[in-house]
Amino acid sequence: MPAPGGMPPGEFRESGHRFVDWVADYLSGIDEYPVLARVQPGEVRDALGDEAPQSGETMEALLRDFEGVVLPGVTHWNHPAFFAYFAISGSGPGILGELLAAALNVNAMVWKSSPAATELEEVTLDWLRGFLGLPPEFIGTINDTASTSTFSALAAAREKLLPEARERGLAGAPPGRVYTTAEAHSSVLKAVHALGLGREGARVVPTGPRRGMDPAALADAIDHDAASGYRPLAVVATIGSTSINAVDPVARIAEVTAERGIWLHVDAAYAGVAAALPNMASHFAGWERADSIVINPHKWLFTPVDCSVLYVRDPAALRAAFSLTPAYLETAEQGVTHLMDHGLALGRRFRALKLWFVMRYFGQQGLRAHLARHVALARRLAEKIDAEPEWERWRPTPFSLVVMRHAPADADGERRDALNLALIDHVNRSGAAFLAQTVIDGETWVRFAIGNIHTRAEHVDTTWKALRDAVGAVAD
Ligand SMILES: *Cc1c(COP(=O)(O)O)cnc(C)c1O
Repeated sequence: MPAPGGMPPGEFRESGHRFVDWVADYLSGIDEYPVLARVQPGEVRDALGDEAPQSGETMEALLRDFEGVVLPGVTHWNHPAFFAYFAISGSGPGILGELLAAALNVNAMVWKSSPAATELEEVTLDWLRGFLGLPPEFIGTINDTASTSTFSALAAAREKLLPEARERGLAGAPPGRVYTTAEAHSSVLKAVHALGLGREGARVVPTGPRRGMDPAALADAIDHDAASGYRPLAVVATIGSTSINAVDPVARIAEVTAERGIWLHVDAAYAGVAAALPNMASHFAGWERADSIVINPHKWLFTPVDCSVLYVRDPAALRAAFSLTPAYLETAEQGVTHLMDHGLALGRRFRALKLWFVMRYFGQQGLRAHLARHVALARRLAEKIDAEPEWERWRPTPFSLVVMRHAPADADGERRDALNLALIDHVNRSGAAFLAQTVIDGETWVRFAIGNIHTRAEHVDTTWKALRDAVGAVAD
């Protein structure tokens, strides 16, 4: 019998069962762990040894160090009281999908290099598109992260709208510009820089009081730039900004971009999946007119990191930016997709498998139920905050992120900021929950992001109580 993956068959099977048992125990006992890792910088590194062992070790020894050295240095994103950043989930079907994908270890660069990986990706993303109510023109590709997806979208926009750069690079081309707001994720500016458009390549458009993009100001900025020798390339609109979940008015922005023939990219990395809920339609009005949309199933669709989906209306535009086939990758098949043509990466993991498992295991109804449950938990928390005179909530709360702060009458400015940071720190140190802060107009607020599949009302309630109790504790 051949040795599976270089291990004796019995050992692979036995370790495999043990490791799956370990995962099952870990997930069912996840409440017991401190959410935020308690290690000091360097502590994990110092426990690891300076060089790889000369002779091989047993899986027993590996598991021992995984538990003894690695695990204490892990922040538990699976914990139901993980409310920092955006809460995510390693769901059962997603984890098992990852296991099988690792076992197959295919690299879906071209169709032939793994036909099923390519076609399953296409079908699963068609399903997801249907789930989100997007029209069939949108063709999806899975990338590692939204940052990569946005980079690809803006590269396609640059290729299409700045064709002068194709042969001789940017030096001989008019300066290109991408429009977004101060609320946009940092990945937008990163992409603009990486695409060689420079700091001036991004123009920040003013926003209204709720921090959504002002479409009239956008139109003025584009027209002014076009008249001054700039080449407007793309607008990046956000549905559910990272800091406070601001929503840009995409329908009105789409009118501005359509009239001027420029690319509209919608960043809905976190909130995009909420489009599957009928009562959320107003936030997504007009997004079907975008040229490209990014959504991360690894954020709020119970799929393990990493899985980001880029939908584009015109895959030929992506291919124009990225297709470059060396002789050893030429293949004879016609009418098939080669995923390597849709972005910078040649090699592609079989990420569709876990997403396919998640969509089949929960079903559209099950996924909607989890999303609706999270939104309801956020509404419930919002009501509780609103009932407390010394607490303030950033409004609105459109999805499952709640932004709040303690605002007692006797503390304002820097004192209030320091107080809120102290409250967050107090809760995080307790190990019972993990919250993060954000800054709005220079002032500190608490972000309470609900989205983990294990999170129930009791976790939200206990953490909200811990925050209020912290007021007394930090005053002492
Ligand atoms: C999280 C987030 C991103 C970046 O996601 P990565 O997948 O980590 O690159 C981009 N945009 C928004 C709105 C986000 O919330």
